[in-house]
Amino acid sequence: MLKIIIAPLNHNYIFDYIDDWKNMVTDSLSKAGLSSEILIWPSTVKPSMKCFDWVRKQYFAPCIIKDLGKMFYEYLNRYFIIGTGYIDGYDYGLNFVFGEASPTSRTAVVFTRRLDPRFYGEGPDYNLYLERVAKEIVHELGHLLGLSHCRRRTCVMSFSNSVYEVDAKTRFFCESCSNTLRKLYV
Ligand SMILES: [Zn+2]
Ligand SMILES: [Zn+2]
Repeated sequence: MLKIIIAPLNHNYIFDYIDDWKNMVTDSLSKAGLSSEILIWPSTVKPSMKCFDWVRKQYFAPCIIKDLGKMFYEYLNRYFIIGTGYIDGYDYGLNFVFGEASPTSRTAVVFTRRLDPRFYGEGPDYNLYLERVAKEIVHELGHLLGLSHCRRRTCVMSFSNSVYEVDAKTRFFCESCSNTLRKLYV
C-alpha cells in the first residue's frame, strides 16, 4: 500500500479541486495495479518567502522541496509528500517547471499556475485545469516511485515542456511503466 500526502501550498484554485485530484491519482495508480492511501493535508503549507525570487516572480523548486522535507520529516519514512500550489516555479537553466521531484527525499512539488488556461489569456476551464494538474501530480509521483521519463507520448511519464504536451498525454502509466511500478511495489 503506497501512502501519499498531498499538501496544499495555498488555498485558491487548489481546495476546490483537491478531492478530485486525490481520486484521480488513486485511480491512475490503481489502473497500474497499485493500491494507495492518499491523505490530504488539512491546512495550507505556505512556502517560505526565502524560496521566492522577487526578480523572476517565481519559486525555486529545490528550495520548496527542501522545506517540505523538513516540515514533513516525521512522515517521510511512511509517506511520499507532494506539495501542490497555485504558484509558478523554476529550477536552474529552466524558465519554468510544472513540477519537480526528489526521489531520495521522497518529496515533490507541483506548480499549477501555468496549467491554468487563464495564465495564457484563455477563459477558465474547470475540467481542463483539473486534468492537467492531476497529470502532473501523477507524473511527479511516478518520479518519486522511481520512474524516469517515458518516450510514449500518451504515457503520464512523458516529459512536458508546454501545456500542449501536457494535454497530449493521459494521466495513466503505459504498460511498460506500469510493469516497472508493479515490480517495485507489488
Ligand atoms: Zn518529469
Ligand atoms: Zn511509460
